[in-house]
Amino acid sequence: MTGERNLAEIFRRLIATTGPISLAHYMAEANARYYAGADPLGAGGDFVTAPEISQLFGELIGVWLADMWLRAGSEVPVHYVELGPGRGTLARDALRAMKRFGLEPQVHLVETSAALRKLQLAAVPAAQFHPDLTNVPFEGPILLVANEFLDALPVRQLICTHGGWREVMVTVECGRFVGAPGSTPMDAALPEERRRQAEGTLIETSPAQAAIVHEVAGRLAEQGGAALFVDYGHVEPRNGSTFQAVRRHEKVDPFENPGTADLTAHVDFASLAQVAKARGARWLGTVSQGDWLRALGIEARSEALGRSAPQHREALDSAMHRLIEADQMGELFKVMALAAPGWPDGAGL
Ligand code: SAH
Repeated sequence: MTGERNLAEIFRRLIATTGPISLAHYMAEANARYYAGADPLGAGGDFVTAPEISQLFGELIGVWLADMWLRAGSEVPVHYVELGPGRGTLARDALRAMKRFGLEPQVHLVETSAALRKLQLAAVPAAQFHPDLTNVPFEGPILLVANEFLDALPVRQLICTHGGWREVMVTVECGRFVGAPGSTPMDAALPEERRRQAEGTLIETSPAQAAIVHEVAGRLAEQGGAALFVDYGHVEPRNGSTFQAVRRHEKVDPFENPGTADLTAHVDFASLAQVAKARGARWLGTVSQGDWLRALGIEARSEALGRSAPQHREALDSAMHRLIEADQMGELFKVMALAAPGWPDGAGL
């Protein structure tokens, strides 16, 4: 890549002209560039996600949403909404499972990458596409899913310095990008109870994630429905940086070649639950992916599939274990469920 096409060059010029940029700015631009480029998913790509590992993941999400919808009164019209649907695999598997319960929602996929929209349309030909939630219909409940979507949204890092809290900015030193405290006081950006910390303490927040959950919760409160956010993250607030880059299944330096690796951060589910509740949605719980999938019967379902296709039994088993075992995705990944006021409790929570 050369000239304007090289994001590192653009950042370097911007920083030279106007000074350091925030880490959130760096992450947002780098990921927009990264996802616009090509399909990063799967064994031949940079990382593998749960729906690409096993069809059971999307199917159980579809079953969970169908169960919520049925118990809430089977209202129509009803909308399946997915944020950042990747290759469209989860949507395809979930919609197939929903159909068995008589649920055939309109399909709305929120995606900014043209390359991925193409794959999603092939997987779900009936889908309507949106760059954000703004034009998703307001009439009828929404059944919303976001898997590994929030972790791709920009985080802001605040660091406790001798002179108070500062935002982590990206600047250039000896030709390389580095993070460094900015000059503007940022104490007001932290809740009172988290401000007293030792010098050097770092706290991540994500206004972009909070904005999404705020909007979804508002939709649930106003039009009914339920939502599942699945991502890696923690249930209790934590200190320290989780900002990282992954390329070809390996962690790499997030400050090298921006736009060519997936930049992510762990999701702070505790704060997001607060946001959802404050906006009038029901928080049904946040549990580990392993516990949730087990509670929904993934083991029995995998066995049944194995019986009808014995030649695939081993592959089915190993895929399921990747999703649920504590040393694989089972513990680190969490499922947060929200619903409209008046909607029932969710299975497995
Ligand atoms: N959910 C999929 C893909 C996860 S990768 C799976 O589980 O396989 C992240 C997805 O979010 C990609 O589809 C990416 O293009 C999309 N995405 C990232 N940032 C986005 C944004 N700001 N708005 C909409 N989609 C975004």
